[in-house]
Amino acid sequence: EVRVRFAPSPTGFLHLGGLRTALYNYIYAKKYGGSFILRMEDTDQSRLVPGAAESIEDMLEWAGIPPDESPRGGGQYGPYLQSQRLSLYSQAADSLVQTGKAYHCFCSQQRLELLKREALRSGQTPRYDNRCRHLRPDQVEEKLDQKVPHVIRFRLESGVEPFNDLVFGWNRHEVAQVEGDPVVMKADGFPTYHLANVVDDHLMKVSHVLRGSEWLISTSKHLLLYRALGWKPPVFGHLPLLLNRDGSKLSKRQGDIYIQSFQRSGALPEALLDITTHCGSGFNSNRVGRKMEELIAEFNPSKITTHSALLDLDKLAEFNKIHLQQRIDDAVQRDWLVRDLQGRIQEVYGTEVQDQDVLQPDYITRVLHLRKGHISSVSDMVSSEYSYLWVRPSFSGQQMAALSSEIQHIATLVIRLMEGLKGGEELTVDQLSVELKTLAKKTSNTKYRDVMKIIRLALSGLQQGPSVAEMMVSLGPSEITHRFNSVLQ
Ligand code: GLU
Repeated sequence: EVRVRFAPSPTGFLHLGGLRTALYNYIYAKKYGGSFILRMEDTDQSRLVPGAAESIEDMLEWAGIPPDESPRGGGQYGPYLQSQRLSLYSQAADSLVQTGKAYHCFCSQQRLELLKREALRSGQTPRYDNRCRHLRPDQVEEKLDQKVPHVIRFRLESGVEPFNDLVFGWNRHEVAQVEGDPVVMKADGFPTYHLANVVDDHLMKVSHVLRGSEWLISTSKHLLLYRALGWKPPVFGHLPLLLNRDGSKLSKRQGDIYIQSFQRSGALPEALLDITTHCGSGFNSNRVGRKMEELIAEFNPSKITTHSALLDLDKLAEFNKIHLQQRIDDAVQRDWLVRDLQGRIQEVYGTEVQDQDVLQPDYITRVLHLRKGHISSVSDMVSSEYSYLWVRPSFSGQQMAALSSEIQHIATLVIRLMEGLKGGEELTVDQLSVELKTLAKKTSNTKYRDVMKIIRLALSGLQQGPSVAEMMVSLGPSEITHRFNSVLQ
């Protein structure tokens, strides 16, 4: 049975790199009929960011990659928060101590600092010198009795066995040669990442570990832990790094790579998923506009390459435009979009919205259909360019004057046209364009272009924007009549 997991540390909010890891795990689970687990690795209590754990789970839901088992949703192998599983780690650590595979270490912070400083001074990488390995049992007993603060360290053995990484192939790191024995239990009773990760992957019956390639060099250490605990390890697959297009680290240069900020700016989850997989590897095709089912169908783990994936965020607008169009055309997905836009209108325009009808799904849907293909994000719809859709324009005396004397005549013609159209069928842009040409001919000496300019200004307060016919179709006959009547007063 395939069981995969995404195991973030809630020391920060979900960003694109994390989303990518979660996504590959999700796709792997769905492709092979398995389960996707979310586990919070919150063992570093000093670095916890309040709200991050909840937000990560929210963001996965939002992105359309909900976990099958998670802190919030529960599951057969819970709890899914490491801070609630402490006894399981101490059991594992105790059993390692009992079998002589781990030991108590009483070295003080001071001593460790000193070791570190000495190493650095002589140009070496600091490493623990494994001194407490050699304490006699009675010495250990005595210190434990005296309640000397201590940690538990894992005895690193040499002779690690190679493992066949799904992506990087055969790998092996002789950790004992480069590292001192690692701490597995800290003085505060919390495990370190390495122990907790191994214990949980085992107890949660994880079959495949797909994670970022920064963990590749830790895997041999993890395999030693599996061996020491007498457990069968999962299959490992390390995903290449996700970098900016120029090869710089994702978080460093581009600033906002947090999923929440993409969400706020109107990025669609499917566009984010598409763009991260598009630059990554592991898919049979690289078309833009792929939906989840297509990503799952096209996923091919043997195609994941070892070289870094370069993400071009400049292309996000283009991806978003394509996915936005798909959403507008899909009745179910559109509801979500409509609700999202309703929220944005209220947020941006709030009490300025005089006509509550603009918040009606029918109206929003019509407007979205008219603008699809032109806008790249739903947030464009609340920019000043489109404010006329949600709030009525207001004019200064000067602007009113600019509406020229022609306005009287044109307004009367427009109002009459609207009277004729009211209650009729839904207007179309083509139909209205024809009507507007006829209308312009009825004005004595105003050019078609100027007539359009006046209508646009009266309706929106703007000099530019979508075609006048489209504006009129968006607003509908009664709103147009209302806006012209108020210009006439
Ligand atoms: N908690 C680790 C992280 O934040 C998980 C690494 C792993 O998947 O094993 O990246």
